[in-house]
Amino acid sequence: MAAQSTIGEALQWGFSTLASSSESANLDAEVLLQHCLGKNRTFLYTWPERPLTIEQWKHFEQLVSRRAKGVPVAHILGEREFWSLKFLVNETTLIPRPDTEMLVETALNLPLPDNARVLDMGTGTGAIALALASERPNWRITALDKVDDAVALAKANREQLGLTQVEILQSDWFSAVKDDDFDLIVSNPPYIDEHDEHLAMGDVRFEPLSALTAADEGYADLNHIAKHAREHLNVGGYLLLEHGFAQALKLRETLISLGYDKVATVRDFGSNDRCTLG
Ligand code: GLN
Repeated sequence: MAAQSTIGEALQWGFSTLASSSESANLDAEVLLQHCLGKNRTFLYTWPERPLTIEQWKHFEQLVSRRAKGVPVAHILGEREFWSLKFLVNETTLIPRPDTEMLVETALNLPLPDNARVLDMGTGTGAIALALASERPNWRITALDKVDDAVALAKANREQLGLTQVEILQSDWFSAVKDDDFDLIVSNPPYIDEHDEHLAMGDVRFEPLSALTAADEGYADLNHIAKHAREHLNVGGYLLLEHGFAQALKLRETLISLGYDKVATVRDFGSNDRCTLG
């Protein structure tokens, strides 16, 4: 491609370069070009004849070639939007997913006190805890992660979003949790079976297995959290867990056998069973 390429030509080149490696080639090329030009999508389609500078073109070429190697767009840009907030992301945690917004929405609709105490376990980027904090400034939210780099990333997100009321701690599940007066415990733990072929495809190849997989066909951490959450919840408190769409039935049975009541499954935007509440 010549140095004097236009926006329209650059987009076309991006689409065709990414077509064989990405299921979202068009969107990826648009987002990467927007980033290189510092412009929005409307600009790209309003000014297709505008030439790129040599620097812009080189930058775009670099980003597209990383994407062609499979690197997630969120890692290339270093950020991902979740609950309409911008989160810094890197390779030390899961990239926030739109599916998890259903967990946030479910939590916000629970009949909780104005100053509810909330625990987010395995917070990663801090997405769930910080999204909740952005909607409920009076909730007293604690977010935990086992991995030091994740704790640092969640803290960086807390600072850049100005949600300084959220407490962020290093803890291996409940190891550092002393309190027993939470109104809500939420988690999007690792729940993929270690042998799942899905792990060899797409963005998950660039995410840490510690954030994705769990023993016992993916149930180990879900079960561990469900078992111990009861010791840390107020009477009438809620547990809300994200899980794989095929895990709802078994998890519901586990919660009921542990003594949870009002057990219910919530579907995500793709109509998959995605969260279970008790
Ligand atoms: N839902 C994610 C996926 O299937 C995994 C999230 C998780 O393990 N907590 O890629």
